[in-house]
Amino acid sequence: MFKPPLEILPPDIAPLRHGNAGVDYVHVFDSGQAGPEVLVQALTHGNEICGAHAMLWLFEKGFRPRRGRLTLALANVAAFERFDSEAPHASRYVDEDLNRVWSDEAMNAGVDTVERRRARELRPFVDAADFVLDIHSMHEDCRPLMVCGTADKNAEYARRLGVPADLLIDTGHPAGLRMVERGGLSDPASARRALLIECGQHWARSSRTVAIDTLVRFLALTGLADEEWMHQHVQLPLPPVQRLVRVTEAVVARSTDFRFLIPVQGLGVVPRAGTPIARDGDQVWCAPYDDTVLVMPSMQHARPGNTQVRLGRYED
Ligand SMILES: [Zn+2]
Repeated sequence: MFKPPLEILPPDIAPLRHGNAGVDYVHVFDSGQAGPEVLVQALTHGNEICGAHAMLWLFEKGFRPRRGRLTLALANVAAFERFDSEAPHASRYVDEDLNRVWSDEAMNAGVDTVERRRARELRPFVDAADFVLDIHSMHEDCRPLMVCGTADKNAEYARRLGVPADLLIDTGHPAGLRMVERGGLSDPASARRALLIECGQHWARSSRTVAIDTLVRFLALTGLADEEWMHQHVQLPLPPVQRLVRVTEAVVARSTDFRFLIPVQGLGVVPRAGTPIARDGDQVWCAPYDDTVLVMPSMQHARPGNTQVRLGRYED
């Protein structure tokens, strides 16, 4: 398997184990002033370490909210602790993907996995939050991407955040509910908002920079940090424009024979409708429209049921 250079390594998070909320690796900072409940989560996937770096950076800065309440959660620590530099992809999860178990049905299904136990521990913090930022990174090299779930309200919120340049509205995940879609977070009628930032490649140094920059801007947008603090700590300039990709379909492998028929790259554009993109046995997927955008194509060996790429188009 492809082994990318490990520009960043898993940081030492052991000092964060004992939080103040009765759950390991969860820290709550209450300003004592009225304001929103804000949740920032990292390590939803154990191998996506840039968010843990950003959280440690925030601790080193001694950040405290000026109003409202901030909860910082490191989610799948059990997977993170299995990191092996010889097999760096293997620490994504222990038993199952933590970001597919956030429906009440999945949590209450009586299935006992490391991830469902952890989701049940974290659920009260998620359900209490008005604003959520979930910090991820990507297997393949790709520009940063804000996954706004299925709700346009979250894309509007990402435009207020100002970063990154590429925003994504998708169709949800067929394999199960993501944390940012739980309850009111994806309900258009709710005032709650959730963003999932894909900072870049898992072990790229730039992903750590993007994670910190996004976190800093998010804390200011929610009102927990003041503008001056934000300007002191931003890491990157605002992009000149933000563009929204709306996903229309997911390409799901049926077998291990799945193959791409063209070179693919994250946020790559297929200019002409009808261009064959991938094949799996008799099934061929073609670009459904001109300028089809390839969202997070997976170059890993296909498994039946795995989403290999999502197809969408820029709205503007
Ligand atoms: Zn992830």
